[in-house]
Amino acid sequence: MTTEITVPTDTPAKLTLALYLLPPGICCNCGTSEGLSLANVQLPTADFTGERALSISLPHCQRCLGTALSLPPRLGRTLSFVPLFFVISIPLVAGALHLCGLGFKDSPELALLAMTVLAVAAPFVLFRRRPPKFSEQTSRYQAVRLKPKKSFLGKTVALQFKFTNSEYARLYREALDSEGARAIQDAEGVVILR
Ligand SMILES: [Zn+2]
Repeated sequence: MTTEITVPTDTPAKLTLALYLLPPGICCNCGTSEGLSLANVQLPTADFTGERALSISLPHCQRCLGTALSLPPRLGRTLSFVPLFFVISIPLVAGALHLCGLGFKDSPELALLAMTVLAVAAPFVLFRRRPPKFSEQTSRYQAVRLKPKKSFLGKTVALQFKFTNSEYARLYREALDSEGARAIQDAEGVVILR
């Protein structure tokens, strides 16, 4: 489960603000406030202003530092394993049918259906449903993800953040909703950071 927050970034000032307001006080993965350090996280954005990744500093505890470098599995890569698992499922399904005293010829539709279900489900279970290494963690991969929202003309007008830690997302929402942040976002002015 992730919490989504979309932030307008249609001016450089808003983009700076969106990144500046990311909460510094708790680990963005497990939420602890102990032993934090800032990790430079390369967030893949597909084609954000022509770049393939946006570099952001995010607070991590010592335990979660490793997850800052661990990219979440891509859907395309997961699906690329389906043909392999289809082949692997053949002897498994044959074995299961054999146990029931059946062969492929007795019920080819059922065999094909079972092989397809196995071939699609296995890569998802093995690569995308892997639990975190430590029970406190919200993900074994990067805890913050990013997706640029484009206008009709292809300009990046907003960033959609996805947070695996709902408390971290709540703090970010709070920072964005603060009066100062609102004023800057509305005024489209220059952000002066001290
Ligand atoms: Zn942590």
